Amino acid sequence: MPCDIRSGPGDIFTVSCSRDPRPQRCRWCAKQSSGFCDFRETKDNSTAGNPSATCDAPFCLRHGQRIAPNMDYCQEHRIDGARP
Ligand SMILES: [Zn+2]
Ligand SMILES: [Zn+2]
Repeated sequence: MPCDIRSGPGDIFTVSCSRDPRPQRCRWCAKQSSGFCDFRETKDNSTAGNPSATCDAPFCLRHGQRIAPNMDYCQEHRIDGARP
C-alpha cells in the first residue's frame, strides 16, 4: 500500500501511509499489543474528576484477559489471577 498524498488548503500537502507510525507494544513484553485495558480506575487520585478514565494499558494476547465482548483487562487487572 503506497503512501496517500493529499493536497490541503494552499500549498500544504499531507502524506499518510498505511503503516501505523507508532505501534503500541505490550506493557509486559515486546509483543505488539492486541488491545487496551478497560479496567475502570477509581482509586487513583490522578483520574479524579474523570469518572470514565480507564487503565488503557496496552497488552498482548498473553498478558490480557477477555472478560466480556469489547471488554478486556490487562495483566495487572485480570480477574483470574493468572501470571505468565
Ligand atoms: Zn505481553
Ligand atoms: Zn489495566
